Amino acid sequence: MSESAGFSTRAIHAGQEPDPTTGAVIAPIYATSTYAQDGVGGLRNGYEYSRSANPTRTALEQCLASLEGGSRGFAFASGLAAEDTLLRAITSPGSHLVIPNDAYGGTFRLFARVHQRWGVEATPVALTDLEAVAAAVRPGETVAVWVETPTNPLLAVADIAAIAEIAHAAGAVVIVDNTFASPYLQQPLALGADVVVHSTTKYCGGHSDVVGGALVVNDAELAEQLVFHQNAIGGVAGPFDSWLVLRGLKTLSLRMERHSDNAEQVAAFLDQHPQVSQAIYPGLTSHPGHELAARQMRRFGGMVSFRVAAGEQAALDLCARTKVFVLAESLGGVESLIEHPGRMTHASVAGTELEVPSDLVRLSVGIEDVEDLIADLDSAIG
Ligand SMILES: *Cc1c(COP(=O)(O)O)cnc(C)c1O
Repeated sequence: MSESAGFSTRAIHAGQEPDPTTGAVIAPIYATSTYAQDGVGGLRNGYEYSRSANPTRTALEQCLASLEGGSRGFAFASGLAAEDTLLRAITSPGSHLVIPNDAYGGTFRLFARVHQRWGVEATPVALTDLEAVAAAVRPGETVAVWVETPTNPLLAVADIAAIAEIAHAAGAVVIVDNTFASPYLQQPLALGADVVVHSTTKYCGGHSDVVGGALVVNDAELAEQLVFHQNAIGGVAGPFDSWLVLRGLKTLSLRMERHSDNAEQVAAFLDQHPQVSQAIYPGLTSHPGHELAARQMRRFGGMVSFRVAAGEQAALDLCARTKVFVLAESLGGVESLIEHPGRMTHASVAGTELEVPSDLVRLSVGIEDVEDLIADLDSAIG
């Protein structure tokens, strides 16, 4: 697949030539752990054992690399497995990282309760404050600046190119968790990032039917370190899961357009609602990161958060009353979801500096008819 092909063309074809044996148009699910060798060491196309490589996973890894504009992609069993593998590849005891002070709760927990025990230190910083980022970076000691944009659940927008400049000047790499935007809306490698992280569970998979993760890089040396650690640690995506994500990616551009259309209208509805004290969406001109997001992203995506004027109990009641929006964790699927971050996805950061407001509600706006979504919220808010 030519690198000059458009995004949707690559989403449908990259890494996926028709099967040479049968002509199958869709990449088969290679449910095999091992591969026959033509004499000792005589591997067919390099396949030896499915922890090291599996053709269905290879197709997904090539497709993801193409969509992020990278040279190499890696697929994992979950977003956190991808993050853990990356961290173990680039850190050792004494390493320091700068992380967002409103990182995804699971990412924060991985730093605070797993990697910190191995002597890796992480400093949480508001990434919207570039001076604070520059002050937190320790030249020669900081191995990476971890960026999430837009963040979960407060949808803060960080300037990837400006952070890359600061980090690179100090000899640190820049990692961007691109889960919320997806490669269709945001291209971190082109903005100067070194590694892209995905929970493919979310928009890449897009149908709430698989848990998966990915890394994409451009640098050959970094790629070799990840090849080694992916195989040495073994948290790989299986062939069935890889196939589901590949299938999801084919419609990513269509879905992200519709998610953005619907979220824009839902955000506008919430923004004028008297029971809503604050609507949070990068597409609203009132959002402090609006202009940056307009420059850095193709559109503003499907995630909307809002604060309920009457407080926590009213927010909890609202979450229990919607009928189209399903009360559930996760995000990025075709169906709309609603959740209370303080009690659900972000319960693990309660009592830390990452604690979220108790009157906050987060929506993953799906691709249903937007009139139904707005009517549902309208009756639930009361
Ligand atoms: C869900 C999520 C993760 C973790 O991914 P899993 O697939 O659940 O392991 C990481 N970052 C962000 C932004 C997420 O939303």
